[in-house]
Amino acid sequence: AQLANQIAAGEVVERPASVVKELVENSLDAGATQIWIDIEKGGARRIRIRDNGNGIAKDELTLALSRHATSKIATLDDLEAIISLGFRGEALASISSVSRLRLASKPAEQAEGWQAWCEGRDMAVQIEPTAHPQGTTVDVQDLFFNTPARRKFLRTEKTEFGHIDEVVRRIALARPAVEIQLTHNNQALRHYRPVAVHDLAEEPTTEQQAAWARRLEQIVGKRFGQEAGFVFNQQAADDLMVFGWLAPPQACRHQGDIQYMYVNGRMMKDKLLSHAIRQAYEGSLADDRQPTYVLYLQLPAQQVDVNVHPAKHEVRFHQARQVHDFVLSTLRDALGQLQG
Ligand code: ADP
Ligand code: MG
Repeated sequence: AQLANQIAAGEVVERPASVVKELVENSLDAGATQIWIDIEKGGARRIRIRDNGNGIAKDELTLALSRHATSKIATLDDLEAIISLGFRGEALASISSVSRLRLASKPAEQAEGWQAWCEGRDMAVQIEPTAHPQGTTVDVQDLFFNTPARRKFLRTEKTEFGHIDEVVRRIALARPAVEIQLTHNNQALRHYRPVAVHDLAEEPTTEQQAAWARRLEQIVGKRFGQEAGFVFNQQAADDLMVFGWLAPPQACRHQGDIQYMYVNGRMMKDKLLSHAIRQAYEGSLADDRQPTYVLYLQLPAQQVDVNVHPAKHEVRFHQARQVHDFVLSTLRDALGQLQG
């Protein structure tokens, strides 16, 4: 079973940043409103994530660490309409198979906290009591200590931390109501403060827009926040909605570093959507500039298939043409207004 976990780990755990992504997504699925992320040595030495979410009950700690154990999918219908970020039940099993992992947790209704340890192939999980506030801590030490080939593949501390920083930025943009703190080698580097978010089914008020913009500026910088134009459009009949920020052509970046697209709260790098965005800019963008945007697309969960590949950011839309054209026409109009 551990070999299977290590093979699966190859798909889920490419580098420290992928561990951070999986663990923070678990915290979000658990309803956390505060997440603390502590990294040492680019994540190779330690990745510790603590949250104030629902927690894991004592007798479910071991289960959470085993393969294909997910509390998020109960029926095939659930699989058709995935709303949680995780659903494969692979992440914790995979990560624990290639590290020394401690899982500590306390659900609100449990009097004391409990923790489980496991180390690489040695799955003999021990359970013991521990002091822990409501929520969960996953402490991953010595990633890839037992898979030397993969450990060797890690880049410099700075590069690996850079990837982690980017993963955290993406998640922070997806969830403005969640407070996130990130440290590296005991130095506090990021503190994304929470803002009040509007109900995504309605057009935000000016105040709500300003709150989002504050968060946006914390994460992608003041400059983009000030230059970008706000976009909102809704196709009520089909429950399609897009909103976010778009830089006018002359303010677009030379690098494609601010290109964030979320579909139902998941960060995506989807060909169809990138194409629609590019086409909206067509004719107005200088050759050395890249479309620059932070956009959120919402649609009914049944209309998208996210069950593609754990590490890829692709989706399949059931009505691809319609989604493409909706995004294209919305952004075209918005750009027209920004310039005109
Ligand atoms: P998945 O997210 O696909 O369900 P994981 O391996 O990531 O699988 O997690 C396994 C299970 O462990 C989850 O279904 C959940 O029940 C539990 N779990 C993991 N992390 C947390 C957390 N931070 N808070 C509460 N429960 C968690
Ligand atoms: Mg998960």
